[in-house]
Amino acid sequence: MTRPCAGGRIEVICGCMYSGKTEELIRRMRQVQIARQSFRIFTPRLDTRYSSSHVASHSGARLEAVPVSSIREVIAESEDIQVIAIDEVHFLEDSPEVIVAACQTLADNGSRVLVAGLDQNYRAAPFPAMSYLMALAEQVDKLYAICVRCGAYATRSQRLIDGHPAPADAPTIVVGGLDLYEARCRTCYEPAC
Ligand code: ADP
Ligand code: ZN
Repeated sequence: MTRPCAGGRIEVICGCMYSGKTEELIRRMRQVQIARQSFRIFTPRLDTRYSSSHVASHSGARLEAVPVSSIREVIAESEDIQVIAIDEVHFLEDSPEVIVAACQTLADNGSRVLVAGLDQNYRAAPFPAMSYLMALAEQVDKLYAICVRCGAYATRSQRLIDGHPAPADAPTIVVGGLDLYEARCRTCYEPAC
């Protein structure tokens, strides 16, 4: 007899800052609400730009979310949930291996797992957890922003300090908005040095 399909899958929504990752996550989760599926949205506690109990896009769209520090908290609160969404996954404190293993377990157990986050840090180097998740996911959507310098499609997040590129040895994670980060294309991006 054929085993019924559990339907578990991983969907990755990635791109640079302002590329619309959170907007896309919210759009998909609104459809989940319409479908009356059980769901939970998680947001890292570190991301305090807007509101800790919501995911919020730069354009103002919001949905309620559970603030978490680690992927263990996601696992603990995801039992029997059909759709699990994690925004800004690069902000979680766990190692890439732990994050990836947890997402795989949730999907293996039949959940649809939506993961949104930056694919590259401000040095234009990959975030390891996102690289693995992009390789393992059933669906990957890489979004782009608009380069603030030239208007081309932007794929990189330029971190600035007093208008100059942040040095390469600065911390990888610094939470900030338009004052600290710009979306830039490959040509306009200025490497950290
Ligand atoms: P992300 O989660 O990828 O950082 P959001 O979903 O929070 O992105 O916000 C996307 C919104 O940001 C866009 O719809 C637009 O209103 C706004 N925005 C601000 N700067 C830019 C930019 N340079 N390129 C594209 N969108 C931008
Ligand atoms: Zn440009």
